[in-house]
Amino acid sequence: MLKINSVIITGSLNYNNTSSMSKIYLSKSTFIKGLQCEKSLYLHKYHSNLSDDTNLQQQAIFDRGTRVGELAQQLFPGGVDASPRDYTQYFESIKDTQKLIKDGVEVIYEAGFCFNNVICFIDILVKKKGRWYAYEVKSSTKLTDVYIIDASLQYYVMQNTGLDIANISIIHINNTYNRFGPLDLKKLFNFVIVTKDAINNNNYIKNKLLELHSVLAQKSIPNIAIGPHCTTPYNCDFKGYCWSHVPEYSIFNLSRLNKKIKWTLYGRGVMDLSQIPLDANLSDNQKIEIDSYMNQTEIIHKIKIRKFVNSLSSELYHLDFETYQSVVPYFDNVKPYQQIPFQYSAHYEHNQMVAHSEYLAKDSLTDCREDFIKNLIRDMKQDGDILVYNISFERSCINELIRCFPQYQSELLAIIDRMKDLMLPFKERWYYTPKMKGSYSIKYVLPALVPSLSYDCLEINNGNLASLTFANIHNVTDEEEVGVIRKNLLEYCKRDTLAMVKILDVLKSI
Ligand code: SF4
Repeated sequence: MLKINSVIITGSLNYNNTSSMSKIYLSKSTFIKGLQCEKSLYLHKYHSNLSDDTNLQQQAIFDRGTRVGELAQQLFPGGVDASPRDYTQYFESIKDTQKLIKDGVEVIYEAGFCFNNVICFIDILVKKKGRWYAYEVKSSTKLTDVYIIDASLQYYVMQNTGLDIANISIIHINNTYNRFGPLDLKKLFNFVIVTKDAINNNNYIKNKLLELHSVLAQKSIPNIAIGPHCTTPYNCDFKGYCWSHVPEYSIFNLSRLNKKIKWTLYGRGVMDLSQIPLDANLSDNQKIEIDSYMNQTEIIHKIKIRKFVNSLSSELYHLDFETYQSVVPYFDNVKPYQQIPFQYSAHYEHNQMVAHSEYLAKDSLTDCREDFIKNLIRDMKQDGDILVYNISFERSCINELIRCFPQYQSELLAIIDRMKDLMLPFKERWYYTPKMKGSYSIKYVLPALVPSLSYDCLEINNGNLASLTFANIHNVTDEEEVGVIRKNLLEYCKRDTLAMVKILDVLKSI
């Protein structure tokens, strides 16, 4: 099945009617794009080569939408799939839909419609007692305004083609569903009827379509400046093009600076940190960042750092978890999007000696959480503090494990009690260098403090990639390839805890 909703239609569409060849069509996704920014719509339609590359994470989001859509179809079994075979076959699909309707088919997946140069494909269309019920499926856990507009557009197009729609609903993921036994689709999904909103939005949709079609008829790229719309509601994929004048380190990197203030400053022509006016309402940490940048100096609060280092036990673990999320829970006692730890690395330091231990689960289809817990408890058996980087993450993972495996509560709580956060000195700006570019993430702190050790040479060099790689490892059939992937995952996590050892060494040397 081709998932239409996650695919953005590019260029004019082919139809076996030459008059339609020259028409410019809007789809649901290009409509939403145009609502966010008309320039983005125009660039997408005529200059798609300027778009940023699709990264693995975006691809994973598209794939997730497809999987969730297919799963939701099972709520209405026995339907006929009208989705196009490929991206050039949209109008074939629309014709097929009409034929299916005429033939009396009562459940249609990816039903296609076209009205006034707008095409849309509804995920599920069901006929009950002579009237049609439309369902749009979202892999998100929340109903957003964009989804309602999205459904309103579909409703507008379907109604105008003459289809009698009793109601239109959005089906989205219910994140309170805790799986036990077979997957219960009725509990996994929430249904929200949005027909009233769709009717109320009718004029808005009609006017917006006129506006967006006139944008597409223009001869030149709309003159729209960058702004908050570049990231809301979605990250625009033309940022590389439109933001090229913004320096790599600018006011947009200043940590915890309110978005409104950032855009007010930008509106006043301020981009470089050195141009920030004295009257800007900045926090102490933000002033430290600016001062450090302007003078190219390191900020080091020796007393605070020494106090932190001295508070650590002589026997010490450096611990790091990797997790993955699955929208559909594969195991009992798992909720949609729950963080599932699948890997850890631990460096143990004592008397100048450093030892390493690690764990990596089999694959994301196997429930390895209990195995993870047993290994973790065994590997943390020595006394001493357990240093992590960003304590709230590891703590919440363990608390979630306790919820699912209460029989290990006391050992796991003891691990939490021993945890301390290596991120603290950097988050509190006790140690700051301009190379950290306003961030206290270990990915910025490590190159600033230990330039000889980096993630650059690793095949897997960030947590998102590790998570996506592990979540898909079961799809790799070649055993040798699986071995290489596992080695890369282990190397990545080990680098994280080695980085912590080296960062602490720098702090100790102060
Ligand atoms: S980057 Fe911003 S200004 Fe440029 S097209 Fe995207 S939303 Fe519009």
